[in-house]
Amino acid sequence: MNLLLHSCCAPCTTYCLEKLRSDGHDVYGYFYNPNIHPYVEFRRRLDTYRDYCASVGLDADICESYGLRQYIVEVGSDIDGRCAVCYRMRLLSAAKLALEKGVDAFTTTLSISPYQNHELLARVGEDVSREVGVPFIYYDFRPGYRRSVEISRELGLYRQPYCGCIFSEEERYSPKFRKSRKRTKKGSADKE
Ligand code: SF4
Repeated sequence: MNLLLHSCCAPCTTYCLEKLRSDGHDVYGYFYNPNIHPYVEFRRRLDTYRDYCASVGLDADICESYGLRQYIVEVGSDIDGRCAVCYRMRLLSAAKLALEKGVDAFTTTLSISPYQNHELLARVGEDVSREVGVPFIYYDFRPGYRRSVEISRELGLYRQPYCGCIFSEEERYSPKFRKSRKRTKKGSADKE
């Protein structure tokens, strides 16, 4: 099957790509993440992804536009409900590219993270799939999460310490959120 793999970052892509290729799929990559802030962090993740793609022979579309303004407009005032909007922004764009490229289906590396909301992610994927008319495949890549960390370390890839948006960065570092971090061990979609 020809698959478009939306990637949130290089470290999460490692295991997902390994798994999809070993299952016999032809994979095309897509980096589109208007949720990554601030700019220096965005560039760092993007550059790491580009270098990684070159090292493993992965053809990919890489969106270089920094999406803070677009992200803020889309999320609006619903800061607590932002993850649904964030998933939709990224998966909708991936679905449109999948249609344009004529691939069989699209999926995302987001589903490797134990810190993402998988039920919501699958639902949003199905919604945009219906809307655009390209199949979405929800892979539960979570069993490979540890492996992705190992591969990233072996390759010396930059691994980010928070999910991406400026709010998740605050939740990661601000003492204000320390108690809830201890309670849940990690933030909603922390990368560590
Ligand atoms: S916490 Fe992560 S998934 Fe949720 S809105 Fe922020 S970047 Fe997106």
